[in-house]
Amino acid sequence: MRSISIFGATGSIGESTFDLIQRAGGPAAYRTVAVTGARNVARLAEMARELRAEVAVTADEALLPDLRAALAGSGVEAAAGAAALAEAADRPADWVMSGIVGAAGLVPGMRALRHGRTLALANKESLVTAGPLLMATAAAHGATILPVDSEHSAVFQALTGEDAGAVERVIITASGGPFRDWPLERLARATVAEAKAHPNWSMGNRISIDSASMFNKALELIETREFFGFPPEMIEVLVHPQSIVHALVGFRDGGVMAHLGPADMRHAIGFALHWPDRGHIPVERLDLARLGSLSFEAPDDRRFPALRLAREVMALRGLAGAAFNAAKEIALDHFMAGGIGFLDMAAVVEDTLERLSAEVALTSPVGTLEDVLAMDHLARTRAGELALKRKEGGRAWN
Ligand code: NAD
Ligand code: MG
Repeated sequence: MRSISIFGATGSIGESTFDLIQRAGGPAAYRTVAVTGARNVARLAEMARELRAEVAVTADEALLPDLRAALAGSGVEAAAGAAALAEAADRPADWVMSGIVGAAGLVPGMRALRHGRTLALANKESLVTAGPLLMATAAAHGATILPVDSEHSAVFQALTGEDAGAVERVIITASGGPFRDWPLERLARATVAEAKAHPNWSMGNRISIDSASMFNKALELIETREFFGFPPEMIEVLVHPQSIVHALVGFRDGGVMAHLGPADMRHAIGFALHWPDRGHIPVERLDLARLGSLSFEAPDDRRFPALRLAREVMALRGLAGAAFNAAKEIALDHFMAGGIGFLDMAAVVEDTLERLSAEVALTSPVGTLEDVLAMDHLARTRAGELALKRKEGGRAWN
């Protein structure tokens, strides 16, 4: 029986993973080693009981007593805190879902790779902050990384059996989010509730807002570069409001392979779970005749400065990815808390990169995990200062 662990089990990716495991037979089909979450310990304990996990870990140490109480009599161990999260990744499991949101997913993912595991990577922030290190660690320890982001799973599938040397370009699609048609003046006043309302996908709050600002696509450009190794000029973004075509790969003979599927993350998660086989996955089947038409348009860089910033970060490489992601996370925190406006998020990220490039060498190669975490910390501090300055200078919209 295969063994699995789910990091970020209580999130949107985690729930979809749990659903697939349960439909396959739950504990009768897979042995669950660890499930982890942050604040929702009631749901975490429920999942751990249903899957008969070895251990349930909450990132929040203050919630350990609650988790213990919720697991009483279940035989599931309870643990809490960052060290416990990392230790959970040391426990042997054949397949590990990296479904934590943000840079917090980096350490557990790295630990799993050091043990040579198969890591289903939804946590794109790991590749953005420490791409070269992550890929080198996987190679050094015989570990496998399978992309779970829908666009990257799509590229991976389109490349299967192909010669990577014959690839001319890779195109990842973006829905354009809820603000695709909004005039710029209105964008400045967009609220958190409006930004959270993604037209096609049901996802966690943070990635939904990142989709509205295109910071999600910016992270995905870097993710494509780091995971597949294609140079930035070969990677394009195409706006496709229906979210049916997830990515396209163009070859030197002019042929283009596209990957299509419903907007349901269980496809990409299930693909990684069954890989290298193709298993049955209970997602809705595409009915193109009913859909009628699919449309495409070029992204508007003025509306979405995040894409331009991602290009700058890809040109710098080194520790710029860690700085970019951390600044983005802080800018998003401030927007969600009502401190800064929607367009201020990109401004805070840009100001942070500018400030940091005068202070440190952003292009230093990603040497160790400690280098990455130090840059992450510094960028958070600077972005926090710059966001507060912007808050004092402007007005809060939410
Ligand atoms: P979510 O917010 O729904 O869930 C995040 C999970 O991480 C939860 O279990 C939460 O408890 C946990 N968590 C949050 N902060 C933590 C911390 N500091 N330490 C440890 N655990 C913490 O997020 P999501 O939408 O499921 O996204 C998860 C990851 O997958 C993100 O990297 C996201 O970019 C990526 N992703 C998500 C989707 C999607 O459809 N939701 C699609 C593609 C990629
Ligand atoms: Mg995606």
